[in-house]
Amino acid sequence: MKKILLFLLASLCLLIAVVLFKAISFRSVQIEAGSADRYVPGDAANLHLSQALTFPTISYAVDQAVDTASFLGFHKFLSEAYPLVHKSLVKEVFSSFSLLYTWEGSNPDLKPVILTAHFDVVPAADTSSWAKKPFSGENDGTFIWGRGALDDKVSVISILEAVEKLLSENYRPERTIYLAFGHDEEISGTRGAGVIAAELKKRNVKAEFLLDEGYAVTLKMVPMIDKPVALIGTSEKGYLSVVLSAAMAGGHSAYPAKESAIIILNRALNKVIMNPMNPEISESIDDFIRYVGPEMPFYARIIFANKWLFRGLILKIYTDGVTSNALVRTTSAPTILKAGVKDNVIPVSAEAVVNFRILPGETTTDVLEHLSSVIADDRIKLTVMEGKREPAQVSPIDVPGFETINRTIRQVYPEALVAPTMMIAASDSRKYLDICRNIYNFAPIIVTSEDLARTHGLDERINIEHYSRGIGFYYQLIRNCNK
Ligand SMILES: [Zn+2]
Repeated sequence: MKKILLFLLASLCLLIAVVLFKAISFRSVQIEAGSADRYVPGDAANLHLSQALTFPTISYAVDQAVDTASFLGFHKFLSEAYPLVHKSLVKEVFSSFSLLYTWEGSNPDLKPVILTAHFDVVPAADTSSWAKKPFSGENDGTFIWGRGALDDKVSVISILEAVEKLLSENYRPERTIYLAFGHDEEISGTRGAGVIAAELKKRNVKAEFLLDEGYAVTLKMVPMIDKPVALIGTSEKGYLSVVLSAAMAGGHSAYPAKESAIIILNRALNKVIMNPMNPEISESIDDFIRYVGPEMPFYARIIFANKWLFRGLILKIYTDGVTSNALVRTTSAPTILKAGVKDNVIPVSAEAVVNFRILPGETTTDVLEHLSSVIADDRIKLTVMEGKREPAQVSPIDVPGFETINRTIRQVYPEALVAPTMMIAASDSRKYLDICRNIYNFAPIIVTSEDLARTHGLDERINIEHYSRGIGFYYQLIRNCNK
């Protein structure tokens, strides 16, 4: 008995020793970036962003007419604001409004780099509730206001400011740099990024890396970390919408049968909601933990450094939060419900749409199999809606493209940590998968959760200082691409 106790005690001590050792040797992977000449833009850059925000380049819906004058007006404004870009780069227009600029590099042996962004915006509903008019571009000395100030005109303008400045210094990149600006990202991007990507593929372009919107330098958004964290998206979730439909004899609501289309559909929906797919630590979240874990307080490092032991606890921490839950599992959300026309008639059919966002590592087939098995009712018909997309493969983080972005962030935002992670929302970037495997989502601006609410919400605005640093980021990034 004593021997068994001693053995258990020794095992426990060993376990504690291993756990502590792992926590202590969970070392920071943040790189030393060295210094860089900071480019600080002047007032002209602020004026340009203000002007850019005055064009209501709104994407309403696929197949809904666009305000041609606004889009063409925006093009004209760009050619006036950035004369050197329009003199030295080759400009092409796709699908009437999307823009591709090619800045020919001096070394054709080096693969090109693609910087993408979009200049369409979502509508500014409820304009009277905005503190400043959504298309005023007002500069109050601290913020520049307007739809597109965060998503994503700021990136278009910041990239062009940086390139114009480099051209004014007679700079020529070694790699060819493509600036690809879409006009319909908010409504799927098929005519903009989709067409540009197809054309580049036709030209046999193979890019070293591509940078698009998606994440940013986040403030107070990563739990247990006080420093700003620059998140770089390295994968994107898949997309699937499924119609669940039920058809049964209807009847009079005064003497209802035990089951009806609505009742069996309701039961099926409940099963879907109550039985989510299992949570999983996918490759990009594993990378995320490797990058942020060592920066956490010691008690948290004990957990995150010992995934082999605390996997269940880590998943519990993630699944408890709304956003973090979406990072570790395929989510399901009922979005449309249709049945019935009259209060005293039992309808003969009912249908619901459930939207799934699929975790990398799983597929649309896995989701459909899961659905059939949890519903387990042949009377519910499942129909896949158009627009499904498998999750994007994870972009590597041990390649020059990621390293260049990482280093540039550390130079421009030395106070920030860098971490790769998974994109929850979708962007234009994955349209380019055929010409580039190294796709990263990062916009060089500082955002808080309050800013996130302004994106697609009321009072979108950008802090002028943050905007200015963003321009400095692109200026430095292009120079860092030479290596
Ligand atoms: Zn966007």
